[in-house]
Amino acid sequence: MDDAAIPLGSQLPAGTRFIGPEPGAVGRWGEGDFPPTDDLDLCVACGLCLPHCPTYRLTGEESASPRGRIAAMRAVTEGRSPVDATFARFMDLCLSCRACEDVCPSHVPFGRMMERARVQIEPLRTRRERFLRWLGLDVALPHRWIHGVAALFAPVARPLLPRRVRSLVPRVGLGELLRPLPRVTPARGTERGTVAILSGCVQDRWYRPVNRATIRVLARNGWRVVVPRGQVCCGALAAHHGRLDRARKQARRNLAAFDGVDWIVVNAAGCGAHMKGYDDLLGAAAGGFRDRVRDLMEFLDEQGIEPPVSNAGFHQVAYHDACHALRAQGIRSQPRAVLGHVPGLQIDEIPDGDRCCGAAGLYNVLQPEMAGELRRQKADAIVSIGARIVVSANPGCTMQIAAGIRLAGAEVDVLHPAEILDRAYAAGDVGAEGGD
Ligand code: SF4
Ligand code: SF4
Repeated sequence: MDDAAIPLGSQLPAGTRFIGPEPGAVGRWGEGDFPPTDDLDLCVACGLCLPHCPTYRLTGEESASPRGRIAAMRAVTEGRSPVDATFARFMDLCLSCRACEDVCPSHVPFGRMMERARVQIEPLRTRRERFLRWLGLDVALPHRWIHGVAALFAPVARPLLPRRVRSLVPRVGLGELLRPLPRVTPARGTERGTVAILSGCVQDRWYRPVNRATIRVLARNGWRVVVPRGQVCCGALAAHHGRLDRARKQARRNLAAFDGVDWIVVNAAGCGAHMKGYDDLLGAAAGGFRDRVRDLMEFLDEQGIEPPVSNAGFHQVAYHDACHALRAQGIRSQPRAVLGHVPGLQIDEIPDGDRCCGAAGLYNVLQPEMAGELRRQKADAIVSIGARIVVSANPGCTMQIAAGIRLAGAEVDVLHPAEILDRAYAAGDVGAEGGD
């Protein structure tokens, strides 16, 4: 019999087993969601994900790798290990960046598994931690007026904030906060259809000019743009921090708010990735919601844009790929193609650009050492290529990179790709008027 015909595993010593639960094992998960066995069984422990995992790269520890975390989840499923403080530490150090998921040959849905594992560790939090999480994730984020008030008082409260939070919070003008987004913006020229945008929680409070630029760019390209009333925070932060029931409630509210529109365009990578996962979160009730959700750059690339005639003085930018665009949505070429329409604009790559910047939702607040090191590496990489402008399409990354650049003592602006396009169109219009 030639070697090729020997069935895989038939020559292993007796008792050797491939990955999978012991027959009859009783899992030790608690109440609520937990990682499904079918998902865990997909991992064949090949380790191909390890070099791509930021926490494994920094620590060299198996327990801080995707394979180690999956092994820990499997140990609980098989009844060999409890959900305890050690388990919580392994899970908490994960960025949920999904780099492992992106490179996994077995298509292990790591992000989904981690969200469910974190539901299990919530009861282990101290009373103070639970209170702060409840305040932030259950009270503030789902209610727009509360984070609106928080943003209004931010200038006064800023000096009272812990230093690591203060360094992240951008300054926002009062006039901007008091001027809401238009509910409906007509298309310019021949209308191609209607799109609804997610205004977002962090995005709309701290980066509303990005939302305005997004609306103008879409309208400029023939889309009627609506900002539906009733929409709430997408729920990504709640889902990433062990509150899947809260995330489901927010997803249901958004299903209702966006009912009946053809396209839902999202300009924040983390929100877009999460909304494309509503079908996973809610099952059939989501009704194929993901098919209608598009990242802004993905949408503009698919539908085509009117090329700007001016570059508004932008000659060179470095592009930062947010993990939740690159890894979770497979978006890489689209923003480069769209920005490639800006005349004379050179798009530079950041060294090791596929590495997480360490923002990861609330990670940069909850895990400051690891997040700080990743932030420093990202800022150094940006500075090393002499970039003066970095383009970032995720508010968490934008805050993290801006803080890293400040700490590095460099002068680099961080802009959203919609802002580049918007300014290019505006400069072209001014030029055309001047030429009349
Ligand atoms: S998660 Fe995927 S890449 Fe990583 S060890 Fe498991 S099967 Fe291999
Ligand atoms: S999600 Fe990111 S940090 Fe977490 S295990 Fe995967 S690669 Fe590592």
